[in-house]
Amino acid sequence: MKNNLSPAYLRQAGQSLTVPFRGAQIDLIATRGQSGELIEIVTVSAPAGFKLPAHRHTRTHKSLFVLSGELLLFLPDKTYHLKEGDFGLIPKNVAHQIESISPASKTLYVSGPGGYASLFTELAQYEQPENEPAYPVSENVDFELVEDFQASLPAEENLSVVRPDGLQPYVIRKGGGEHLLVEDQLQTFLARQNNTEGRFLVVLTEGPKGNAVIQHYHKRHTECFFVLEGNMTMWNDGQPIAMKPGDFLHAPALTKHSYRLDSPYTKFIGLLTPGLFEPFFDALCTPYPNHDLPEKPGPARFDRVLKKYGELDLYFVSPPPDKSMNILQATLVTFSFWLASKLTSKE
Ligand code: FE
Repeated sequence: MKNNLSPAYLRQAGQSLTVPFRGAQIDLIATRGQSGELIEIVTVSAPAGFKLPAHRHTRTHKSLFVLSGELLLFLPDKTYHLKEGDFGLIPKNVAHQIESISPASKTLYVSGPGGYASLFTELAQYEQPENEPAYPVSENVDFELVEDFQASLPAEENLSVVRPDGLQPYVIRKGGGEHLLVEDQLQTFLARQNNTEGRFLVVLTEGPKGNAVIQHYHKRHTECFFVLEGNMTMWNDGQPIAMKPGDFLHAPALTKHSYRLDSPYTKFIGLLTPGLFEPFFDALCTPYPNHDLPEKPGPARFDRVLKKYGELDLYFVSPPPDKSMNILQATLVTFSFWLASKLTSKE
């Protein structure tokens, strides 16, 4: 039942193992080993001019989210100028090059096993300061140099705001993406299953101070939380954890968890792998045309969640761990999930 044996862990900002490479600092947030061979997550803090030679990945899709500073993302026929809050997705086999162009940039990279955590760990090992690195990597690293890559300039400033369907490279500017509303929280799909062959989902969650969500676990997917703005509390197997920007929590299958937004405005990025939790968001939330937080809360369609309970990889444990529900509400919620689990297990 359990798809990986990697334990849950918290990685606070500044507490990651880091590798240096040619003036950049790579923070290893989730390595392939730590994630049970599901995902790799790093941040790259780089000076202006930092870049790798043009390359492609033949096994994994890669996404990047600019945390600060500015980058150029070179694709075969187009170049994008990315700034803080912008997102890019590069499917496997697409040649690309990324260059930091501000004095200091910081970017969050997510991919499958063999991505940047593996790459930079190996490169740092082999780096000879007096030589240009030859990029010698083992077959554990999914990295292939692309000769005669032609960069096209000028870079495009008008980034798209919508998420296209299918396996293709794309960028989404800050505030863009596919928005869904649940109560006072905005959920934004930056990548759905059809953008990553089901390997991972990238979902932004933002909202005002609120209550904790019901405590739950998943059996078939890992959920990772990376805080972008504000403060939040996570409950990890019942233990409350205060989280601030740059903090990361890895909650693998079977880990009981919940979260609560604690600041007037909090934003976090959710990385879910594999991407099979997508139908949950479509069941609970409602499509929403704007990127601003709503003045009036929208519905939370628990009726649809309960109807599909057996198919969603969602398992209820208990009402919100911050005791924000009164006894009547808590009893009703517990009974609803109990009934849904009975009904779905009979089918
Ligand atoms: Fe969850």
